[in-house]
Amino acid sequence: MMIRMPKEAQEILEKLNAHGYEAYIVGGCVRDSLLEKEPEDWDITTSAKPEEVKSVFGRTIDTGIQHGTVTIMRGKTGYEVTTYRIDGEYEDGRHPKTVEFTSNLKEDLKRRDFTINAMAYSPREGLIDIFGGVRDLQAGTIRCVGTAADRFTEDALRILRAIRFCAQLGFKIEENTWHSIKAIGPNLARVSKERVQAELTKLLVSSHPDYIKMVFSCSLESCISPGFARLIPDKIFINPKLPPLKYLRWASLLKDQSPQEAAQILKELKMDNDTMDKVKLLVKMCPLPIGLTPAQIRRAMSQMPDELFDSLLLLKRSLITCQETAAESENIQTADTIPDKTLSPLQELDQIQRTVREIRLRGDCTNLKMLAVTGNDLITHGMKPGKQLGETLKNLLNLVLEHPELNQKETLLTILKQERGGAQ
Ligand code: ATP
Ligand code: MG
Repeated sequence: MMIRMPKEAQEILEKLNAHGYEAYIVGGCVRDSLLEKEPEDWDITTSAKPEEVKSVFGRTIDTGIQHGTVTIMRGKTGYEVTTYRIDGEYEDGRHPKTVEFTSNLKEDLKRRDFTINAMAYSPREGLIDIFGGVRDLQAGTIRCVGTAADRFTEDALRILRAIRFCAQLGFKIEENTWHSIKAIGPNLARVSKERVQAELTKLLVSSHPDYIKMVFSCSLESCISPGFARLIPDKIFINPKLPPLKYLRWASLLKDQSPQEAAQILKELKMDNDTMDKVKLLVKMCPLPIGLTPAQIRRAMSQMPDELFDSLLLLKRSLITCQETAAESENIQTADTIPDKTLSPLQELDQIQRTVREIRLRGDCTNLKMLAVTGNDLITHGMKPGKQLGETLKNLLNLVLEHPELNQKETLLTILKQERGGAQ
């Protein structure tokens, strides 16, 4: 068994070894390598104390020095090197209140959450798998290291991590671990909402976003947030084919809510404003018809950036697919029974998509940036800066959304002149 790692990681291990310390890659990168997935980062665990790591490497960054972590930069990549440690009691933060360094690798692996995350590897010694991580990877099982109930009591976030890893890997939770999740579940209410949200987001952008339903089957919903607890699991459908964009996956989860309800849930979970605004807009626009004429479509496009509009179409498509699946399972006929000439919702969406492509190819103006006149142009032609100017630009945009051929500087300025002449 051999793991290929970046040569920088290997050099860090070798350098620590050369100074008489043990060193291994550990955790997520070992798990992902064994699954033949490209790891996101390469974490290193070592018997060297933080001060010793620093003196071996000279230039390091104190990223989590109180927990024994220093970062070594190699090019643009940071390698986190953490001293073997035994964790004390966890607080409601990312890290335990106290840590104790140890010279024993096994102790360090024991503090980790799941067997699949508790393996270490070095080219010299190969894989160190004390708790059956390989067995669980092969069986597709999430299992706590040690006594599950104790591990969830130490840090309740591990409950959501268990579900999140299931969603990322398509795994199942081992029975005893599952029972402990149900028993310790209420502790999740005391975990910071930022950490909860980060785990839910990782779950939603994974290849099995509908595993979010496990939150309900484990009765955790009311520990997430009051608004989240009002979601109805049977109505949740998130197409795994949707691009793994944070705002899009959250919008798909919240598409049956009103924009206010969706925003409330995200606020409870301390979501960033950018994501919140995007989700709110998608949730609001999703049930509204766009219309089929190029002008109607340009109007819809003008309400959001291109990327968001594409997301809206994908979201609408996934909604139709899921409604059709539901209808099929209830044996209601859909597309086939719709009279000729009427387009099915899916055909409508295809047509919209074709028109959007044409609009973009032609370069029709769909936002203020594409308008042939700017605020400065209007000022040059005698308008005063201020609210009126903004209104005028908006009116011009509305005009060219209807008549894209008018989007020429001279044409628009002439129209304005005529209007103002007429108004006087
Ligand atoms: P990802 O980076 O995709 O979130 P990961 O497994 O690398 O997955 P990290 O949060 O980066 O997860 O943590 C790195 C390692 O630290 C984990 O593999 C695990 O061994 C350990 N770990 C992280 N969080 C916890 C926790 N809450 N309890 C116990 N061990 C943890
Ligand atoms: Mg990681």
